Amino acid sequence: MIALFFVIGCIFGSFMNVVLSRKDWYKGRSRCDTCGYILKWYDLIPIISFCALRGKCRKCHSKIGVLHLASEIYMGCGFAVVYGYFQYGVMAAMIQIAAIIFLGIYAISDIKEYAVSTLYLYSGLITVALLRIAKILMTGDIQKAVLFIIAYALVYAGFVLIAKKVQNHIGEGDFDIFMLILLAVGFFNALLCTTIASVVGTILYLPLVISKKHERTKQIPLAPLLYIGYVITLVGGSFI
Ligand SMILES: [Zn+2]
Repeated sequence: MIALFFVIGCIFGSFMNVVLSRKDWYKGRSRCDTCGYILKWYDLIPIISFCALRGKCRKCHSKIGVLHLASEIYMGCGFAVVYGYFQYGVMAAMIQIAAIIFLGIYAISDIKEYAVSTLYLYSGLITVALLRIAKILMTGDIQKAVLFIIAYALVYAGFVLIAKKVQNHIGEGDFDIFMLILLAVGFFNALLCTTIASVVGTILYLPLVISKKHERTKQIPLAPLLYIGYVITLVGGSFI
């Protein structure tokens, strides 16, 4: 089952990459960006097709971005990890699936465009918040649901205020991403996730900054790091 979840995740990652790359993705079949070659079904098998073609188009041999392969693998890993959450109930797993999908979308957008669209940010926040509230309401505890809404509304208001003050230092939307993580796994685990993301970021980017390959003034995309941190946090945790 865990393998099945990995495969579903890979397919999802591949699909997301296409949706985020092409504004007219719903029109017609997938094509090569360079020569327009219409991809056959066997060109669309996650990971396997990419490796078999060595990351190149079958017809014109132009390179397919490594990001495509990376998004397949990391969504696959995310889904495989979430599978373990079904033991805490369908609702608990749904919350984590929603969080993984949206964090995956943010990661891909952030790498591609150094920005995440507000539409995706708010869709993610609303989806995860509604799932959390639904889960609390299923226990019949209306008071707890109301307290949950008030508490998180206050936290979010605080974030909006801080975000206004530090506009130039932290990428726009990063607070929304942190808020989504907070909603999905709670305060302690959100901090843990951020810490892991910082450590991973330091390991990945420090050599680049030292060797001056990465300009220091250039922003480091935070969303992919948070995604990695989130998946690692999920491996270790059991959030309900
Ligand atoms: Zn081509």
